[in-house]
Amino acid sequence: MPTALITGITGQDGSFLAELLLDRGWRVIGLVRRSASPDHWRIAHLMPRLELDSADLLDQGSLFEVLRRHKPDHVYNLAAQSFVPTSWRQPVLTGEVTALGCARMLEALRLAWPEARFYQAGSSEMFGLNDAGPQDERAAFHPRSPYGVAKVYAHHLTVNYRESYGLFAVGGILFNHESERRGVEFVTRKLAMAAAAVHAGRAQTVTLGRLDVRRDWGFAGDYVEAMHLMLLQSEPRDFVVATGLAWSVQDFAERAFAAVGRRWQAHVVHDPALLRPAEIPCLRGDASAARDQLGWTPSLAFDGLVERMVRAEVDRLAG
Ligand code: NAP
Repeated sequence: MPTALITGITGQDGSFLAELLLDRGWRVIGLVRRSASPDHWRIAHLMPRLELDSADLLDQGSLFEVLRRHKPDHVYNLAAQSFVPTSWRQPVLTGEVTALGCARMLEALRLAWPEARFYQAGSSEMFGLNDAGPQDERAAFHPRSPYGVAKVYAHHLTVNYRESYGLFAVGGILFNHESERRGVEFVTRKLAMAAAAVHAGRAQTVTLGRLDVRRDWGFAGDYVEAMHLMLLQSEPRDFVVATGLAWSVQDFAERAFAAVGRRWQAHVVHDPALLRPAEIPCLRGDASAARDQLGWTPSLAFDGLVERMVRAEVDRLAG
């Protein structure tokens, strides 16, 4: 049975990827870090099919040990401090986990188990301030947050270890992908929860920063499939994964509230305190290479994604 090791198993993507791999007959080891109050709600339904082991991206030895112990065929490095606003408040921690965490993983791989194929979770935030056109694998990086900068470091290092040591190491450059398992601080989940709370009479408003920024939003369940496909190729290379369409935060708000029969204008309050020190007006990806070489296409479009997320929150509140 082939074995996959996933860092960030307790996050949104980790849970979807584990589900996909388990359903395809893989043995899956998820890495969890020590916590005083562990809450593994995203993967509870996968236990006991899923195996957990303990390591931390801040601790080199622990990563080395788990690779030596499990000798996985695939390693997916999904762990990160992944929330852009937190990266301004905690830039050093973000660098330690999101940038150097990848360096520690690559070093552990190189020294303990170079046979494994390695996936690094890159982000469209690496493109940052870009031309209006869609970004593909050749577009320049101009990150606009400590998070984006950390991801650029991790991406370049992944490419560097591939070129220097011959590792099968690839960087996926994924545009935003969402689901009912998204962290509650992210704007899409925040809006889905707010629409459901208004519907249930439990809230009246939600506060947001800019409404005009545009993102290329897809469904997380689709995007983990692309990660897996990248590691199944005969040659390692990097891929952009995106839907090719950009929508504004306002578009999302409109649809989320419409899904519960409300007008968004009555419930969305602008809060200047939520503005970022630097913004990226628009991110839109060109995933032609993923489509042509991986045979990957997204299954869920924007409207369906918003509906799915709001329905999940309505059901959650209904008990
Ligand atoms: P997420 O829900 O925020 O999950 C992050 C994961 O990283 C959690 O499992 C977290 O564990 C773990 N983690 C954080 N610090 C760690 C440390 N020091 N050691 C070990 N694990 C640690 O993120 P996601 O949405 O699933 O995204 C997965 C990856 O893709 C991330 O690297 C993210 O930056 C990247 N990405 C995401 C998107 C997107 O739209 N979702 C787009 C592009 C790239 P705890 O549960 O213990 O906190």
